[in-house]
Amino acid sequence: MTANPTRLGAIRAIENHETPDAFFDVDAKTGATFGDNVFSLSVMKQRLPKSVFKSVAATIQKGEKLDPAVADIVASAMKDWAMEKGVTHYAHVFYPLTGLTAEKHDSFMEPVGDGTAVWEFSGKTLVQGEPDASSFPNGGIRATFEARGYTGWDVQSPAYILENPNGNTLCIPTIFVSMTGEALDHKTPLLRSQHAMSEQAKRVLALFGHSDIDNVVSYCGPEQEYFLVDTAFVNSRPDLLNAGRTLFGAKPPKGQEFDDHYFGAIPERVLGFMHDTERALFKLGVPAKTRHNEVAPGQFEIAPVFERANLASDHQQLIMSTFKSIAKAHGFECLFHEKPFAGVNGSGKHVNFSFGNGNQGNFLNPGDNPHDNAQFLVFCAAVIRAVHLYGGLLRLSIASAGNDHRLGANEAPPAIISIFLGDQLQDVFAQIAAGGATSSKQKGVLSVGVDTLPDLTKDAGDRNRTSPMAFTGNRFEFRAAGSNQTVAAPMVVINTIMAEALDYLATELESAVAGGATFNEAVQSVLATVMAQHGSVVFNGNGYSEEWHAEAEKRGLKNLRTTVDALPEHISPESKKLFSTYGVFSEAELDSRFEIGVEQYVMTINVEANLTEEIARTTILPASVRYQTELAQNVVTLKGAGLEPDTTDLDEVSALIGALRNGISDLVAAKDGAHEHEGLAEAAYYRDAVLPAMLAVREAADALEAVVADDLWSLPTYQEMLFIR
Ligand code: ADP
Ligand code: MG
Repeated sequence: MTANPTRLGAIRAIENHETPDAFFDVDAKTGATFGDNVFSLSVMKQRLPKSVFKSVAATIQKGEKLDPAVADIVASAMKDWAMEKGVTHYAHVFYPLTGLTAEKHDSFMEPVGDGTAVWEFSGKTLVQGEPDASSFPNGGIRATFEARGYTGWDVQSPAYILENPNGNTLCIPTIFVSMTGEALDHKTPLLRSQHAMSEQAKRVLALFGHSDIDNVVSYCGPEQEYFLVDTAFVNSRPDLLNAGRTLFGAKPPKGQEFDDHYFGAIPERVLGFMHDTERALFKLGVPAKTRHNEVAPGQFEIAPVFERANLASDHQQLIMSTFKSIAKAHGFECLFHEKPFAGVNGSGKHVNFSFGNGNQGNFLNPGDNPHDNAQFLVFCAAVIRAVHLYGGLLRLSIASAGNDHRLGANEAPPAIISIFLGDQLQDVFAQIAAGGATSSKQKGVLSVGVDTLPDLTKDAGDRNRTSPMAFTGNRFEFRAAGSNQTVAAPMVVINTIMAEALDYLATELESAVAGGATFNEAVQSVLATVMAQHGSVVFNGNGYSEEWHAEAEKRGLKNLRTTVDALPEHISPESKKLFSTYGVFSEAELDSRFEIGVEQYVMTINVEANLTEEIARTTILPASVRYQTELAQNVVTLKGAGLEPDTTDLDEVSALIGALRNGISDLVAAKDGAHEHEGLAEAAYYRDAVLPAMLAVREAADALEAVVADDLWSLPTYQEMLFIR
């Protein structure tokens, strides 16, 4: 164990750690807590007059605006329900482009002027809020004098109560827009894209002869990876505290190569944390279902059951904030950064998605008969077209400075967006491309009939961990998202590009049928066309391999390696046309998102560069110089005693200190140089000049960590942070 007082203190604190009492009481016998704090449909049914309930339920179904007359009654019922649960305040919760969750809190209390007050909550305050928007990124959409922004309740996402030992708050999930109606958040475009996709999907469903077609929604099931590191360590790591990732740290002697952590027993302290978070999430109606260890030491995963994408996205944000706050109570820091520890597996967020509705089910589910299979294949073909045409946008939707450390690093998919279909589906589509599928690889389910399409079984098939977009039996899994990111961004793109592809397919099918083709012929031919035009995006092989990079280039697939490469996708003519056609983003909104993306990239790396300089100067250099002095004194002492001193260690440390000093001054120069650039060029400069300069500082520092006396080294080591809990 270390003799360094700082690190020793942290380790002692962990040894003496006591798990706090359960954060929330749960009636384990009845399990009645699920959704206890949610103003759900069933609560509304109990508390609202029948006609009002009917109207709200219909609004939720269709995702429309709430009738103002109805809103007043809902608000009043909501307030009574909340006050019975100890609520005094309400908050409009929204998701600004920082990727974080924002809240504006107000009290129900309204002074009436005679020294008393009433508790009030009107329909208008439920439905609309007016937070000062000037401190949220807007990318030039709003001049500062028009600082107002509006929040509006997303009726499809129910209100809920956040408990706190000091008081409870009624939270209302909202969209966040500017005075002129431009989206300032992730939620607004998600709802718009959902609508666009639904309109086109309904056309396709109608062609398949469905009547009574419900609104179509996208479903999303995000798998969230995260690290837990003891607070006692994090408090001595300014990099983890301020940047969410370590900027220094030599590799631990024992890494993840033993694979002994994955699906191993969950450590007791961590289990305590998980129990508390899940109880809290259950109360909030978040279906947190699966939990396990992940590949890296100290890394874990939670996967809630999939929900409608806008709800899943809100719940995903709730999971992250709940984890952060409950981790603190357990003496942990919950890290959502994509790569908190260099050389150790990073964290992703797999976005599982599908499309469907209440009446017609999940359209990515292979059916029991050829007719259903044909519909399934049409939706799959839509995915193939969408991903091929707009792979760049998918890449953009998960681009961030943090995720750049992870993509393409043999632990996460490459930046090239391709599709994995699995053997069976791949084979079916290959046959379609060759002029008609008549058999399925699966024995016993061959179906040669009217449709000349094979039967498919509902077998999830094999897995391909190296593919960014993998079919997994009844859904696709977009595996490139980073752990810190909102799932709204990829879902916006997925919905919109599906709208385009379904629009194309519906139009083709409609005109073929109008031209006299039978529907089956039309389906056959359009599927073949899609494969001919877009089949090159299908790749079942190893996405990590060098050969794939070469092959993908030959196929003309984009390889947008870094965020800086991906950001211009916001403003390409194709993107502008796509998003404006389907009413998801205006050109001004895309321009603003581009600007914000650039700004955030630059800000992130700038903070990291400042931290690198500060830690190197004030912690690593002093420790190293002290050790150098010790070694030098030893040389002098030995000489004085008439002994021949061995200066190997002193020479090595001196050389490394020299390298560290050079690294620091190069980094300072690199940071200064940033002022000469602007916009995307500045982002590129940070990537090409500042990041490498930071790495050079780190290299010298990590080498010093390996030789400087341990008692002088106050930064908790990788070994300690990853293995002690
Ligand atoms: P794995 O680790 O094997 O990928 P998990 O059980 O960890 O599987 O996570 C799978 C995720 O996919 C869960 O969130 C699950 O709810 C979600 N999911 C399952 N079916 C669908 C579907 N039809 N559409 C969207 N998400 C789905
Ligand atoms: Mg998965």
